Amino acid sequence: MFLFEKFKKMMLKTPTPDHQCPISSELEPEPKVELGPQQEPEVSGLKKKRKLGVIGVGSAGLLSLVHFCTWLEEDWEIYSIHNPAKEILGIGESTNGEFVGLLERGTHFCLGSQEDLKALDATIKFGSKFSGWREASWINPLLDGNTAVHFNNYFFKDFIYSRLEKLWPKQFRFIEGDVKELVNHSDRVTVTIDESEHEFDFVIDCMGFPSNYDDYVISDCTPVNRCLVHSIEDFEYEPFTDHIAHAHGWMFGVPLQSRKTYGYLYNDKITAKEEAVEDMKRILEVDEIEDKEYVFKCYYTPKLVEGRIFKNGNKALFFEPLVANSIALYTYAMRLIYDRMMGNTTEEETNTSFVDAVQPVENIISYYYQGGSTFESAFWDHATRHTKARLENQQAFKDMMATYKNLKDRGILNMGSIYGFKPLTWEIVDEQMGYGYIGK
Ligand SMILES: Cc1cc2nc3c(=O)[nH]c(=O)nc-3n(C[C@H](O)[C@H](O)[C@H](O)COP(=O)(O)OP(=O)(O)OC[C@H]3O[C@@H](n4cnc5c(N)ncnc54)[C@H](O)[C@@H]3O)c2cc1C
Repeated sequence: MFLFEKFKKMMLKTPTPDHQCPISSELEPEPKVELGPQQEPEVSGLKKKRKLGVIGVGSAGLLSLVHFCTWLEEDWEIYSIHNPAKEILGIGESTNGEFVGLLERGTHFCLGSQEDLKALDATIKFGSKFSGWREASWINPLLDGNTAVHFNNYFFKDFIYSRLEKLWPKQFRFIEGDVKELVNHSDRVTVTIDESEHEFDFVIDCMGFPSNYDDYVISDCTPVNRCLVHSIEDFEYEPFTDHIAHAHGWMFGVPLQSRKTYGYLYNDKITAKEEAVEDMKRILEVDEIEDKEYVFKCYYTPKLVEGRIFKNGNKALFFEPLVANSIALYTYAMRLIYDRMMGNTTEEETNTSFVDAVQPVENIISYYYQGGSTFESAFWDHATRHTKARLENQQAFKDMMATYKNLKDRGILNMGSIYGFKPLTWEIVDEQMGYGYIGK
């Protein structure tokens, strides 16, 4: 899946409404967007730096900054732009090995350093623990020797800014202000920040949830649409993200150093909020839960790039948090963005590659639900029927499972290509869930 990373030297040889920001375009029909190193401008004998603007300092914006400070040379400036009055979507996040790998390269984050873990309120993650889905619990492992973390994204900006200032002083810049407008030209992007206009070669929009979904594909991959959130301070740490099935959906548990955050996912068309609140209190054995809830839909953009403007984070996609899929997709999107910026891919190829990566994740989500759980309830009845029917129409999913089965029968499953997960993960989950797609 992650074939797009190129070393830079090789490359150079060859829903919050106030997050709204209109994107207008001055591009003519069929614009010629000229990209790549050949455009390096000369000004009075001095090289003018090229500029990338990354808007937003939520997890997606900060990870994009790290990625591009790491991989772009010193003739680039990478600007972090955000409005401090507009909050990030703050939640304890569960990550994957790519997240740690990116932080290691770009910020010298060290998994073995207690100081670094403390700076992010982070704990070690070895996988996801599934309970209540089948009679026995199991761990979805992180493969290839990967280790990940759970981290507190309220702590993320200070950590990233201080490391980028130290490690990438020639690349890293920041601007505070409200982005009012983005205008796409054939050779640059104009960003209006408060009252002033700033020019960039490219912009990555990480301004969070879109203000409307007209240009997005709404996904039917999941039967849940709400998440109640509650944190507790007294808990027994295990190095896993909990995925606990309950009668009305499932609940994640993300252990940080300071607290463990639980997210109770359910469907408001099947379960009333009051019932969900009572059930969450019962499971967590608490008298009250926080008054914090996310109401969401799952969606993705078919246009990761338009002209010189890219999207990432919740501006590009949102899926429910089963198997912590978001950050893996953000890091993949960054690689696609890099290749497009360097002129190695067309706009159409970039957008197609993004959609091709997103659709297997939709299928992974449906796949977990389709076999039900240990609970018999209206929710699970709906969830299994809906996701089974959905997967029946996913030919790419069925073809990949048939390929895996064929490879497994020949004793060479690991030679299969990646479809959302690595083949070995599919084998482990298939066995634990008793589906028999791959095994007997
Ligand atoms: C309940 C729940 C659980 C989740 N769990 C996980 C998980 O375990 N693992 C995982 O990978 N993901 C998880 N996610 C996904 C999570 O939402 C994202 O990973 C993360 O929050 C991405 O946010 P973002 O960076 O896109 O935007 P945000 O965090 O919303 O940040 C938006 C940024 O844009 C800035 N901004 C907005 N408008 C303007 C403007 N006009 N001018 C200037 N700046 C502006 C804001 O200041 C802010 O900095 C979960 C999501 C939910 C809802």
